[in-house]
Amino acid sequence: MALIRERESKRLHVKSKLMGESLVGKDFLRSLEYRETFRVFPDVSVLKVGGQSITDMGAVALLPVIGEIVENAKRHKVVVSTGGGTRSRHVYSIAMDLGMPTGIIARLGQSVSEQNALMLTVLLSPHGGIKVGHDDLTKLGAYFAQGCIPVIHGMPPYGYWEHPPEEGRIPSNRTDVGAFLLAEVIGARQCIFIKDVDGLYTDNPKVDPQAEFIPIIGANELMEKDQDDLVVERIVLELLDRSQNISRIQIINGLKEGSITRALNGEHVGTIIYKDN
Ligand code: ADP
Ligand code: MG
Repeated sequence: MALIRERESKRLHVKSKLMGESLVGKDFLRSLEYRETFRVFPDVSVLKVGGQSITDMGAVALLPVIGEIVENAKRHKVVVSTGGGTRSRHVYSIAMDLGMPTGIIARLGQSVSEQNALMLTVLLSPHGGIKVGHDDLTKLGAYFAQGCIPVIHGMPPYGYWEHPPEEGRIPSNRTDVGAFLLAEVIGARQCIFIKDVDGLYTDNPKVDPQAEFIPIIGANELMEKDQDDLVVERIVLELLDRSQNISRIQIINGLKEGSITRALNGEHVGTIIYKDN
């Protein structure tokens, strides 16, 4: 390991390509060469179970989804990531009323997605369900080797450090973002969002019955359309555009039996949003 002392400033460096750089320079960052990313779990699918769209509906929606996940876990390795939902919205509105900053609101959201992770884990426990924390990602391999179904809460761990959003004060990095980033960091096979609509429409189909279904679209193309409302958190599109591993996401209707099975088998159900750069 070579040490180099700058003649003028006397700064000491360890010789490397990044030596003495601010790591901010645009040209410098562009000039770096990277090896392809190491995909830890290229055969694992991340399944995000929607908070508002599935879990909050209780047994009628959640139990069939759990049943289909259990059935599929015999053939596919899956990690279940949980959303927040109605309780998040309730606590967000109280927190807004009390003037809480975004970082506090994000922490509150985290505890709700954890509540859902606990309930889903209990339901999955007889079939190998195990609740894992964000720091347990490196244990996933061992859990899969034992046939477990890991369940992780979806809120990304920015917590108090959540970035102030472009609009308002509600954290823009919520559980869809968390599920996506999980899939990205483990180099997952796919990232599937289980919701209560068939996929993406030109507008919220519950508000606008004329809204048209969009079976497949590029992330940039969708961002350029600047739709007023979306079926996934907006930041997911930006992240997909920059992703190193995940090149598409799929949004499916968990209320329609068989959708999870078909998506895990690689079929095009619901909407596919792909990386189009
Ligand atoms: P989750 O509980 O998985 O986080 P959300 O309730 O946050 O799900 O998001 C899913 C909902 O988004 C759908 O039930 C639908 O009403 C709404 N939505 C808003 N805009 C759209 C759109 N353009 N296409 C489809 N659904 C939309
Ligand atoms: Mg949501």
